[in-house]
Amino acid sequence: MTRIIGIISGKGGVGKTTTVSNLGTALVDMGKKVIILDANVTTPNLSLHLRIPFYPITLHDVIKRKAPIEKAIYEHISGLKIIPASLAASEIEDIDMDKFESILWSLLGKADIIIVDSAAGLGREAIAAIEASDEIIIVTNPEIPAITDALKTIKVAERKGTKVLGAVVNRCRAHRHEMSLKDIKHMLEVPILAIIPEDSNVPKSISKKIPLVSLNPNSQAAVEFRRLAEEIAYGMKTTSRKKKSLLRRIFFWMS
Ligand code: ADP
Ligand code: MG
Repeated sequence: MTRIIGIISGKGGVGKTTTVSNLGTALVDMGKKVIILDANVTTPNLSLHLRIPFYPITLHDVIKRKAPIEKAIYEHISGLKIIPASLAASEIEDIDMDKFESILWSLLGKADIIIVDSAAGLGREAIAAIEASDEIIIVTNPEIPAITDALKTIKVAERKGTKVLGAVVNRCRAHRHEMSLKDIKHMLEVPILAIIPEDSNVPKSISKKIPLVSLNPNSQAAVEFRRLAEEIAYGMKTTSRKKKSLLRRIFFWMS
């Protein structure tokens, strides 16, 4: 069974794409078949976090029905599969996110886990990612604006019937101005899945286009990303997931 997990935040720049590339790589290292997909179609950057040399066909071509999804899947050297979005500004127009859900469902069976990198905010891209995912992980930072947006995102996801697995609190510095984990948990009312420290190895890994879990596997943040992967792969098997109904999937797939 393929799980579709959306990585969502509300606020921008909190670490969604970093989480997607590292979580995906860590899951592949654990033997899982994983596809990561860039659903941030207006300002994509997943393909900048991992080195994939040449990708002529992107999610944009699939959304515009110029190519089948299979042609937009590229294999990273780690074994992680990636569906990039186009970096060209000219590709942004005429993007219809209504078909996004059915596109994702056409990937069912092709991986154990599909991880969706979402856009910031709660505009059409983020909403499409929330609607298409079975489960979502909220990425946030330990500060009021990020937590406020995270809370709003959780409420939207709950209204859409998408299960919220929990929150990843990223860029923690144990600074006295930060919100405490107790307050974050109290406000969000979802499990805290991982606490990722502020780590200068993260921007270094992005500049090298190598996920931190591969570049510096022993760094503090990498250890936390691996722990998150274990939690996702093994920790939640027994919790009841509100899977989108098979009927709904078939309906969308055929429409
Ligand atoms: P988003 O996808 O939510 O916009 P990104 O993953 O692109 O966020 O991260 C935004 C910036 O924050 C990046 O430049 C990255 O280097 C930095 N960053 C993310 N996580 C960490 C971390 N744990 N420590 C240090 N810098 C980080
Ligand atoms: Mg991003």
